[in-house]
Amino acid sequence: MIEINHVNKWYGPTFQVLKDCTTSVAKGEVVVVCGPSGSGKSTLIKCVNALEPIQGGDITLDGVKVNDPKTDLPKLRSRVGMVFQHFELFPHLRIIDNLRLAQEKVLGRKSDDATAKGMKLLERVGLKDHAKKFPAELSGGQQQRVAIARALAMDPIAMLFDEPTSALDPEMISEVLDVMVDLAREGMTMMVVTHEMGFANKVADRVIFMDRGEIVEDAKKADFFGTPRSDRAQKFLSKIL
Ligand code: ADP
Ligand code: MG
Repeated sequence: MIEINHVNKWYGPTFQVLKDCTTSVAKGEVVVVCGPSGSGKSTLIKCVNALEPIQGGDITLDGVKVNDPKTDLPKLRSRVGMVFQHFELFPHLRIIDNLRLAQEKVLGRKSDDATAKGMKLLERVGLKDHAKKFPAELSGGQQQRVAIARALAMDPIAMLFDEPTSALDPEMISEVLDVMVDLAREGMTMMVVTHEMGFANKVADRVIFMDRGEIVEDAKKADFFGTPRSDRAQKFLSKIL
């Protein structure tokens, strides 16, 4: 579903943020990306839906080349759900309207259909009683669940997550991870930047470890936790586990 081939990227003329990164995410696969702060994790997943351009290599999404000037980027982005650390809901819109907006504007769904789909997804993330509230009336964990529901409302072919729980109070982390675990078990294709190794252990198929712009490890979960090959990954794991 996602293919990343020999990707190189610079910020400015001299700082190479991604160095010959190659990996892939198969349909239905869950890949966790971890590594120290500043290693390029956010940049890598932003490149997948062309929020950041690349200067070398190729990325394809469901067979469509992302870094091709002829690719319809708004259309491509509408097919990939993205959930960030900060929930980025529209503050002036009620929860249900947050879920309806892109369905109507981007996919052209009728208002009734978009509302029905939104309500179904709110029920799925345990928030159907909050549909009429504004984002500020919800907790951080609830807002992040809305953000996930909003992404799912677009029927994405894959979901990208960038540290979705790292801005949350500890007691709210599990309610968000539980939604993500369900999604993974239902077969969603997912690329997840997170340091929640409990989540990785439960549902990841593979774990990627990045350091200084390089993919240092890309291994099946059992191999990653069992016998990480590089010193850098071992050091990182010993700090966070
Ligand atoms: P991570 O998500 O692993 O913490 P990032 O991808 O956010 O890493 O950042 C990787 C490196 O690129 C960091 O050194 C960061 O400061 C730098 N960086 C990130 N975004 C930009 C940008 N828009 N312009 C210049 N440098 C950036
Ligand atoms: Mg980041």
